[in-house]
Amino acid sequence: MKQLTEEQKNKISPMMRHYLQTKEDYKDCILMYRLGDFYEMFFDDAQTASRELEISLTGRDCGLEERAPMCGIPYHSVTPYIAKLIQKGYKVAICDQTEDPKLAKGIVKRDVTRVVTPGTLTEEALLDEKSNNYLAVIYLRQKSAALVFSDISTGEMFATEVSSITAILNETARYNPTEIIINSKNEIVLEKLSQRFTASIDSSREHLFDSASAAKIVLDHFKTDSLAALGIEGREDITTAAAAMLRYLFHTQKSTVPFVDVLTVYSVNDFMDLDIATRRNLELTGTLRDNSRKGSLIGAIDKTRTAMGARELRRWVEKPLLDAAAIESRLSGVEELVKTFELRDMAKEALDLTYDISRIITRTASGSVTPKDMLALRNTLRSLPILREIISSAKSEKIHNMYVDFEPLKTLCEFLESAIKDDAPMIIRDGNIIKEGHNTEIDNLRDIKNNGKKYLEAFIDAERERTGISKLKLGYNKVFGYYIEITKSLADQAPEDYIRRQTLANNERFTTVELKKIEEEIMNASDKLLNLELELYRQTIDKIMEYFDSLKQLADVLAELDCLYSLAEAAVKNNYVRPTIDNSGLIEIREGRHPVVESMSRVFVPNDTLLDTDKNRLMIITGPNMAGKSTYMRQTALITLMAQIGSFVPAKSAHIGIVDRIFTRVGASDDIASGQSTFMLEMTEVANILKTATPRSLIILDEIGRGTSTFDGLSIAWAVAEYVHDKKRLGAKTLFATHYHEMTEMEDTVEGVKNYNIAVKKKGDEITFLRKIVRGGADRSYGIEVAALAGVPKPVISSAKQILKHLEETMPKSDKPIFEQLIFDFEDCYDNDYTVDEDENIIDEPSAPEKIYEELKALDVPSMTIMDAAQKLYELVDIAKGH
Ligand code: ADP
Repeated sequence: MKQLTEEQKNKISPMMRHYLQTKEDYKDCILMYRLGDFYEMFFDDAQTASRELEISLTGRDCGLEERAPMCGIPYHSVTPYIAKLIQKGYKVAICDQTEDPKLAKGIVKRDVTRVVTPGTLTEEALLDEKSNNYLAVIYLRQKSAALVFSDISTGEMFATEVSSITAILNETARYNPTEIIINSKNEIVLEKLSQRFTASIDSSREHLFDSASAAKIVLDHFKTDSLAALGIEGREDITTAAAAMLRYLFHTQKSTVPFVDVLTVYSVNDFMDLDIATRRNLELTGTLRDNSRKGSLIGAIDKTRTAMGARELRRWVEKPLLDAAAIESRLSGVEELVKTFELRDMAKEALDLTYDISRIITRTASGSVTPKDMLALRNTLRSLPILREIISSAKSEKIHNMYVDFEPLKTLCEFLESAIKDDAPMIIRDGNIIKEGHNTEIDNLRDIKNNGKKYLEAFIDAERERTGISKLKLGYNKVFGYYIEITKSLADQAPEDYIRRQTLANNERFTTVELKKIEEEIMNASDKLLNLELELYRQTIDKIMEYFDSLKQLADVLAELDCLYSLAEAAVKNNYVRPTIDNSGLIEIREGRHPVVESMSRVFVPNDTLLDTDKNRLMIITGPNMAGKSTYMRQTALITLMAQIGSFVPAKSAHIGIVDRIFTRVGASDDIASGQSTFMLEMTEVANILKTATPRSLIILDEIGRGTSTFDGLSIAWAVAEYVHDKKRLGAKTLFATHYHEMTEMEDTVEGVKNYNIAVKKKGDEITFLRKIVRGGADRSYGIEVAALAGVPKPVISSAKQILKHLEETMPKSDKPIFEQLIFDFEDCYDNDYTVDEDENIIDEPSAPEKIYEELKALDVPSMTIMDAAQKLYELVDIAKGH
């Protein structure tokens, strides 16, 4: 909007002046300004909102010559509109009336009561119940960064410190925040954050990071006088970041957010390290293709019955444990629920009564709790007797030691049972919340409101009897209200206490003290009832708040129980076993399966894995494309990860020596999701693995070195394999899938290397995938056969075979790698373009470019030199790849 001149400022209406002053403080937001029953937006905000929300743009006189552009939304249906604006990346400041307009002198007082931003949502309607909604604060220092994450809708706050940019990204990825506040304008960091996350990123709030006042803010908020009690003594950066988080929350909520009452400080070394590429490749919480839950690990093991449990399980998956005792403790809980059907059934029963009380408690604390929420809370509390039974009868320490404040919560449950109507509405506005029998005054008022007519009838009957005038009638008009009407001839029989109101030609109209009282009661009952209901509702909120700590504990217990239940249910349904966990460095899996692929295939062939710190450190895995190499390697990683979250695993048996990190690196041409210049990316990631992996890590390398020329690629792959396996350098457990058959030579010369391949059966011209991992290198690559399976048209295949034959017959041994690469690339052209169904029939048939077909037909292969043939094949590959 244009700046106003002094003269214009003087002319402008008082309301609009206040609007403009308010807008000054919320320049980065769309300001919704409450006027009567509407939230109005003006000037630029109005233009933006009318465009984005598709609502009509009008204008308002504001004292200036031109009308102010304006658009508005009825206050009671504002939520979906706010949601839309947030989704589109805006922030919204809500300016409300802060005094009753009826009582206001002059213009009604208004103030911003809430700033809605993507990371500070509390409204149920704006949140996904199965995931947390985190706000991240990053306090970037010279050589480190303090990170704080908070979900205000559940009252959680986590803090940690990291010492590299990669670690900032990796740790932030665990939370996948929707909003990031960072103190720095460091371009590299900002660019990486915006590349990796869809969150809105704000680097303009340096004032939040005032370290001088940080400790005081944190101490005041958490109501303690010692930073040590919060676990952040001497940790100034975390303190500053936490204070920045609190300041921002205060700013957006316009309150002190007392429900964010615990600061959980942790070390990144407490959990398995998983970088962003690994998280994505292993499809932990979403698929590579479209990030959907179905097809991800969480999709396979999430049998939770509550939203709180679903969020907690996701956290478990994002943060696998490193401590054997903690893992065993979860496993023991899961095992008990697996083995004791009655207990599992009871858990299900308790969880089915459970609502999202974690968010309800927060809404109670912030005053936005609805009557329906209270019913949901009451229903959840009804699960207490079952929960008590579960906890007392459980043998496993994990479940038996769960702590719930049963007695006080029982009292709260009884209170809510008696206070809230079973059909209480979503909104408070219209009352109808408090249950019959809870408060006599409410009962009376409701009775009068609902039965007013009956009261009047009873009154008039009684009057007829008292006076003996049977024709005495009850009437009503707007001026006098209710009256008693008696015909003139009988009027003098009216008792003395009758007060004359009106004389008509044939009738006299009277009232009495009692009739006035009844009338008043009827008239006022609705108002009084509503006020009293609202008052009692507020008292109920206060009452619930008295149980705040116990309720939070209960929410935690239910979320944890739900996770254990979910893992047990998944174990039973999918036939998982309890893994043996220790720090031996051994990974020995018998008949392991891929938890997701197995659920999607009709038949899944299980496979063994043996990795240790001695003779089996590096598995070189060869075999044609589509044989199942990636699936096999990923299943090993997933089984290890599942074991470390405390889950049973898809295998006949599994011995898992705890790993500190899992890395998975997928070769350039397989990396379809990122769409970036992939060789460079691949090498950056490989470099990162080599730098950060430790001997306790598990590394999965799938076809690295493919994005460059054959000899380069082979050399890189070889050198990386040597480095990772060499105990003097890294010595991490590694699964390495490669099409460079030369690498199988390592087994003979290097200790700790074992060759494996995924078997295929060749019969005539056809191959069948056996999906079985066996010792030894694959004899050859079967590229053409796979291309045939993939639906490459027959004439192309037969030409390719001719070329192959010719090359094989005439090629000197030293050229073999080039040839292998060619065949591989040839096959690769089709690899990403088709999908197969369960029986491996092609669903989307690729259309081989006509041009290739024509060219191949024209070739006179037998007369070509080997280099010509190779050259030609290269060109065709390029055409097929669309270059
Ligand atoms: P590669 O990495 O060797 O190209 P993939 O691991 O991508 O092969 O496997 C190709 C397909 O084979 C998978 O999508 C899956 O459907 C199927 N598959 C892989 N391993 C198995 C198995 N052990 N049992 C059954 N089907 C499998």
